[in-house]
Amino acid sequence: AKAEGRARYKFFNQELTKTVRARLEIEAELRHAIQNNELLVYYQPQYDTSSNTIVGAEALVRWAHPSKGLIPPIYFIPVAEATGLISAIGNWVLNSACQQCATWFAQGLRDFTLAVNLSPYQFLHGDIEQNVAATTAKTGFPAQHLELEITEGTLMDREIDAIKIFTALRARGVRIAIDDFGTGYSSLAYLKRFPLDALKIDRGFISDLPDDSDDAAITLAIIAMAHSLKLNVLAEGVETEAQLNFLQEASCDFYQGYLKSPAISAQDFEQLLKAEK
Ligand code: C2E
Ligand code: CA
Ligand code: CA
Ligand code: CA
Repeated sequence: AKAEGRARYKFFNQELTKTVRARLEIEAELRHAIQNNELLVYYQPQYDTSSNTIVGAEALVRWAHPSKGLIPPIYFIPVAEATGLISAIGNWVLNSACQQCATWFAQGLRDFTLAVNLSPYQFLHGDIEQNVAATTAKTGFPAQHLELEITEGTLMDREIDAIKIFTALRARGVRIAIDDFGTGYSSLAYLKRFPLDALKIDRGFISDLPDDSDDAAITLAIIAMAHSLKLNVLAEGVETEAQLNFLQEASCDFYQGYLKSPAISAQDFEQLLKAEK
């Protein structure tokens, strides 16, 4: 039994060492990736629910790893969050996406809203207002077309700061959206206190529509609440026509999801914009 316990301990220890080493490796490689321009911005189009035309694009980061290929964010965003590297990545994404979209606007492609994710760390430790001001000034991207997506948890932790930061950003014309709405803290009181512009209904509530009656009720309630608070509402992760029909009937303003398009490269998104023009 003792030997068995030792063996188990050794196993756990090795696993732990592996995990720590993997994390350190990712961290070192990620630092390198930022310096070597291995990060890319992909764009997922956002659609108007009634006209089915593109009204926005969410910037989603990808890592073009020289040997491992295109790495999705779930493999490196958590490490970046834990190490603070997310500030450098987040600022890079903001700058790169604003630069790209400013170029498209200058070419006369249709206007749309650029949505950029803001991580909790970036929001609480960085000077986001200063970064936005510097980026819009440098790239010429109009702040009125920028929307920042923030998850609920971030807000509850630092309510006073969040209200100040949102107010300053909104004074510049930037819009604020709550990401993954419905999955965070259950207090709805902050919807009244925070200066907000939009709610993004989490994919978890959308995926079983229209058959799951609980999800249907929750989705309808979020849409009704958003509208009575004068907020826009977007459904995430729309994959089927049946889901879209439900959202159309429910007067949900916008949607994004695989039904229309996954996140795609800048070149592909440009083609999509041109085709719609
Ligand atoms: P998110 O902000 O909730 O982004 C939506 C995710 O859902 C994206 O995954 C998108 O590709 C995926 N998705 C879109 N439509 C569908 C659909 O119809 N079905 C399904 N199953 N999935 C769909 P992605 O690109 O892998 O990003 C994952 C998460 O990584 C994002 O979740 C966001 O939290 C984070 N992330 C991505 N880029 C950034 C960034 O630049 N900064 C920060 N802080 N986080 C980022
Ligand atoms: Ca998002
Ligand atoms: Ca989301
Ligand atoms: Ca369900």
